[in-house]
Amino acid sequence: MNEQSKKCLYCQGDNDESDTHCRHCGMALPQKHPQDKRTRINFFIKAFWVIVVFCIFMMYYFPR
Ligand SMILES: [Zn+2]
Repeated sequence: MNEQSKKCLYCQGDNDESDTHCRHCGMALPQKHPQDKRTRINFFIKAFWVIVVFCIFMMYYFPR
């Protein structure tokens, strides 16, 4: 459960949480913020798909 290191999206290298750029390839690292727009969008996409799958499952489970 230790998320203190950030993985580079380009070279998969490990970097410290405080690093803003990858120490291996020099690319900018994603900033971790709880209110990050992409994180929230991903959460809503996941929640949407869970609801869709649940509805499809219920339609087949209770056919009327
Ligand atoms: Zn890198």
